[in-house]
Amino acid sequence: MKILAVEVDEGFCDGVGYCEKICPDVFMVDPQRRKAVVVGEFRGSRELAERVQLAENSCPMRAIVVTTEEASDIG
Ligand code: SF4
Repeated sequence: MKILAVEVDEGFCDGVGYCEKICPDVFMVDPQRRKAVVVGEFRGSRELAERVQLAENSCPMRAIVVTTEEASDIG
């Protein structure tokens, strides 16, 4: 599985920051706007990819959208 893109839909993000706790290499909550942003490089080790996906699955607002190679092949 290869990650092609990571996005946060700010319209849904509540800014509590589970994503940042799980994967601070990639996500950071902007303290002024209280919205998560993608700040880091998400391509890399398998372990990093797994944490990005864990963050996606742990987001209570379903605000994180991770596009993988397999997913992009479908559509
Ligand atoms: S876990 Fe989801 S809702 Fe919470 S800060 Fe991160 S992107 Fe936003």
